Amino acid sequence: MNDAHRNRLTRVRHAMQERELDALVVTLPANVRWLSGFTSPEDARVLVTLEDAWLLTDGRYIAQADAESHLPAVIERDWMRIAAERAKDGQVGVEAEHVTLATGTKLEHHFGRDPIRTEGLIARLRRTKDDAESDAIRRAAALTDRAYEHALGMVRPGVRELDVALEIERFVRSEGGDGMAFDVIVASGPRSAMPHGLASSKVIEAGELLTIDMGARVDGYCADMTRTVGVGTVSDAHRALFDAVLEAQVASLAAVAPGTPTRDVDAVARDILTRHGLGEAFAHSLGHGVGLEIHEAPGLAPRSEDVLEAGMAVTIEPGAYHPGDAGVRIEDLALVTEDGYEVLSHAPKGWRTVGVDA
Ligand code: ZN
Ligand code: ZN
Repeated sequence: MNDAHRNRLTRVRHAMQERELDALVVTLPANVRWLSGFTSPEDARVLVTLEDAWLLTDGRYIAQADAESHLPAVIERDWMRIAAERAKDGQVGVEAEHVTLATGTKLEHHFGRDPIRTEGLIARLRRTKDDAESDAIRRAAALTDRAYEHALGMVRPGVRELDVALEIERFVRSEGGDGMAFDVIVASGPRSAMPHGLASSKVIEAGELLTIDMGARVDGYCADMTRTVGVGTVSDAHRALFDAVLEAQVASLAAVAPGTPTRDVDAVARDILTRHGLGEAFAHSLGHGVGLEIHEAPGLAPRSEDVLEAGMAVTIEPGAYHPGDAGVRIEDLALVTEDGYEVLSHAPKGWRTVGVDA
């Protein structure tokens, strides 16, 4: 086990002691991977006690667990029996945000007592990234930049959204990424007003706004970036929409600093868009944490209680959407540092037209 993984276990045990837990059954895949390094966490659990920790998985993964896991592996299909045996008589915590009612009932049966429901115990610890994690996120962001620039080269009137998305995916895989962190969003024309408009068979046309929201995954870690461009010349109203969102994005990104409540960063963008008459059109929160999961803590939203800390990887992604007409979103991934932030998304975000010769 390396220092980073030893440190993660130490932090989990501190959090367990605060909750007076003697053992914790970790089932949430991202948490299993974070603690063990095992890359098939959907088929594994981690049992943490105050002295020991094990990866519990089955016979399909003997070689893989041996090669990847920082924790000793126990190979046994009936993992609940092993967990109950090794947790002994103490208070056992489960991850209530992930365990189903059916699994909870079985665990109760195996342990012979009610497990203690924890929520977000490890998610809170995962908010701040160590050096190895920051490095993986930085590499995922760099690959995302390159895939975006590559795909933009094929955008022109007549090309389908899904062909752009496919080219992004192909590029990421061929350049060594694990795959995409989430389904690629390519939304043109009226579809750009759909914040989660997955690439469709729609043909991109001249004069449209085009939004691409994408992120590569590298060594398990996600990136997340959005750019909106014009396919040739767009209307003055659509250009004004872009300028307002860019102003909000630049200002709210500049507000990122350790010690700042995330709701204050959200407010910077929201106030600017409201001044442009786009308060209602900004129909989502400003951003979210990114790591092994594409959406994780902290949240950057009007009612969030989170405060930025050095080591957090967060997105800053204001948008404005006029349903049926058009939308704009601009999203950067940034790492909070001791004295501010490091932007990890480097693709140009200023106004840009593509695909139509002047
Ligand atoms: Zn995104
Ligand atoms: Zn995002």
